[in-house]
Amino acid sequence: ARSEAEPQRMTPMMAQYVEIKAAHADCLLFYRMGDFYELFFEDAEIASRTLGIVLTKRGKHLGEDIPMCGVPVERAEDYLQRLIAAGHRVAVCEQTEDPAEARKRGGKSVVQRGVVRLVTPGTITEDSLLDPARANLLVALARRRTGEDSYAYGLAAIDISTGRFTVTETAAAGLSAEIARLDPREIVVPDTIYDEPTLRDLWREQRAAVTPLARDGLDPASAERRLKDFFGVASLDAFGAFSRAEIAAAAAALAYVERTQLAARPPLSPPRSEDVSGTLSIDAATRANLELMRTLSGERSGSLVSTIDRTVTPGGGRLLAERLASPLTSVAAIRARHDAVAFLLGERPLRERLRQALSAVPDIARALSRLTLGRGGPRDLAAVRDGLVAAEAIASLLANAAPPAELAAAAEAMRGVAPGLAENLSAALADELPLLKRDGGFVREGYDGTLDEARVLQVDSRRFIAALQARYVNETGCRTLKVKHNNVIGYFVEVPPAVGEDLVKPPHNATFVHRQTMAGAMRFSTVELGELEARIASAAERALGIELAVFERLGDAVIAAGEAIKRAAEALSIVDVTAALALLADDLGWTRPTVDDSLAFSIAAGRHPVVEAALKRAGQTFVANDCALSPPEGEKAGRITLVTGPNMAGKSTFLRQNALIVVLAQMGAFVPAARAHIGIVDKLFSRVGAADDLARGRSTFMVEMIETAAILNQAGERALVILDEIGRGTATFDGLSIAWAAIEHLHEINRCRSLFATHYHELTALAERMARVENATVRVSEWKGDVVFLHEVIPGAADRSYGIQVAKLAGLPPPVIARARAILDELEKTEREKPVATLVDDLPLFAAVPARPAAAAAQKDELGEALDGVDPDEMSPREALEALYRLKALR
Ligand code: ADP
Repeated sequence: ARSEAEPQRMTPMMAQYVEIKAAHADCLLFYRMGDFYELFFEDAEIASRTLGIVLTKRGKHLGEDIPMCGVPVERAEDYLQRLIAAGHRVAVCEQTEDPAEARKRGGKSVVQRGVVRLVTPGTITEDSLLDPARANLLVALARRRTGEDSYAYGLAAIDISTGRFTVTETAAAGLSAEIARLDPREIVVPDTIYDEPTLRDLWREQRAAVTPLARDGLDPASAERRLKDFFGVASLDAFGAFSRAEIAAAAAALAYVERTQLAARPPLSPPRSEDVSGTLSIDAATRANLELMRTLSGERSGSLVSTIDRTVTPGGGRLLAERLASPLTSVAAIRARHDAVAFLLGERPLRERLRQALSAVPDIARALSRLTLGRGGPRDLAAVRDGLVAAEAIASLLANAAPPAELAAAAEAMRGVAPGLAENLSAALADELPLLKRDGGFVREGYDGTLDEARVLQVDSRRFIAALQARYVNETGCRTLKVKHNNVIGYFVEVPPAVGEDLVKPPHNATFVHRQTMAGAMRFSTVELGELEARIASAAERALGIELAVFERLGDAVIAAGEAIKRAAEALSIVDVTAALALLADDLGWTRPTVDDSLAFSIAAGRHPVVEAALKRAGQTFVANDCALSPPEGEKAGRITLVTGPNMAGKSTFLRQNALIVVLAQMGAFVPAARAHIGIVDKLFSRVGAADDLARGRSTFMVEMIETAAILNQAGERALVILDEIGRGTATFDGLSIAWAAIEHLHEINRCRSLFATHYHELTALAERMARVENATVRVSEWKGDVVFLHEVIPGAADRSYGIQVAKLAGLPPPVIARARAILDELEKTEREKPVATLVDDLPLFAAVPARPAAAAAQKDELGEALDGVDPDEMSPREALEALYRLKALR
């Protein structure tokens, strides 16, 4: 055995490190040493790779070099942000005693340290780490069994940066959609759920960090207790009715938050149950396809939210995103929002005054949260002050205008919040505020007498020093004598060496004590300078102590009014969103949609907001189009419009714009159309051009079929279904057949309003056979053999596909184009001999489906007759059993 391999004793510091790290094995450990957070071992390697900082070594552990890297404490937030963004979690370990204490203990004593906080993507509060326009949700999952092999899932969402706490329950089929709606930053899942084979893909496709949790014994009783204890209530009933899965999820989310925040108690609102049936259900694929929150390539810019966002406050921006993510299904609630927007659309001067006042509103909710967590600074107090002042002003502006209910309620919530608090904050806070309270200087002069005295002493000391210097110049006769200060010896007298030689001798050496001899100077201290130094230091310390006490008092006052401030902050966000939507409607000529409980869908001159905005930037105009899917007279099911037309004509744009108009209308916004009448949509599905999902090893075609299956299985009569080019990913006849069968299914079984874009012209023949199917096409014209897109959707079928013209536009070489034309001619000739269209007449319509009710009816009769012959009151148990077998055999 080699001698180096012998176990070596760890230094006490390393022993402390290893112990703390072991308790936080799933986090990178930021270990505080002086002005740095140091990382060791594998943590150091990960951090240096992720952050691009130098990896060094420090000492040896078990004979090996210890890799180390460090980040300066004052720049830690930057580095944290990058580590969090890269999906890491960080445990912040601070010195929990003054290093002087450890020195007093002597010997090998190390400074005590402890982890004060875990920083994870879903539990951050710093502005520099947060996206102002997006909620920062932590979602926890739990489930309850609802059948032999079926579960319902409880989801709890907490945003500790604002205190939001909501819970929902959904069937397994809705889990992915619900997670997509919440769009969390972090998801915590009990490992029993995490390991579920059917959910593996779900975790993989999340943008959020997904953290499996070892089961920590949260049985139903202790889950409930945990919530009751946190909110100090005897029963959760006061907050609403919750399912077991919801309570379990809420407790798991709370437990995780408490674990990451350690001693600090976040300002959570009591859990509020969000009824999934109250929101428009949009599955994850549809959400992504419609680019509501981000584009398919993952950017906010170019998404619907970034196109419509005219809010001026961070809270307003978040509320807008939240509403867009969760459009409503209640006619009354939607109309209430429309009323509010209509009001501010009409009251333009009021709207402008409101927006003016709103633009001074800071991120109150997040400031409040930091103050409550003990992580706040002077600027957070100022944020609350500015928010309260603006709230009062906005409330009076609104109250004088007799607004509709939504805005009246908001005004009410902004009135008289924490009387006197804003004035008190204004009186206390200086004009210029430091970021950190420990920097001091944030309390206004004249606010606190003792503070002013302590500060006067600091100012006076400067005068004392000047006076002392003058006296020493006099006593020594040295006119270049200076009183100076440095951090090593404090205040000192500096003179040229020649004078210095004099000062070390009597009588001067009674006053001047030699400290240092430099190249061109000698330095001396004096008793008077020492006293002055002590006085200045204690005055500064006293001043800071007083300031911190003032901060604490103000912070407590803010926290005490926390609930009311939070409500005012929400009200400000509502006013901001409403004014922003009114401005949007005003700017772009959007109109109020008629929303009711019918199955209507009738859009006049609709536009695609994002495409229109892009065209406008390029100086082009968007061609508005109508869409009519309302049930025909006397029918109870919506129509299907089959849109044909060449590639690039605008089919996808048309399909998507109608889906977006529904989302906008039901979130409470006005819509980009001349007129819109929408009977509430409860589920929105769109299958539009999926990209290859190579990460999951699935082909485009497989993804397309999975999504199409979901639609055909789930869409009910209130759904709106948008299918773009399904069946395209396979051979022509396969694709045509699948598209054909899908349309029949939509027409006969789903019976929902649908838009179906296809390049299979054969399908247009279906309109003749199915009552509620109509053809539409996007107009193109030809000019000198080139195709010109008019982007106008008109009734009827496209006469040809123009594929070759489009290929020509794209720059395919002329010989290829010519050859393609020749091949096409040949193919069309063959086609004319056996047109696929005649199939429509040969094939019975969706044979399997109409057959089923008929067969079922016959069956029912036979069964019915057999049942009629059974009289349970007259039967022995044995006869009853035999009868049961007979009946079963008839099935
Ligand atoms: P398709 O689905 O038929 O291939 P797209 O919907 O992708 O066609 O549209 C192709 C392009 O045509 C779009 O990027 C857009 O620039 C333009 N376009 C589409 N619809 C319109 C319209 N209604 N008005 C103006 N330009 C449009």
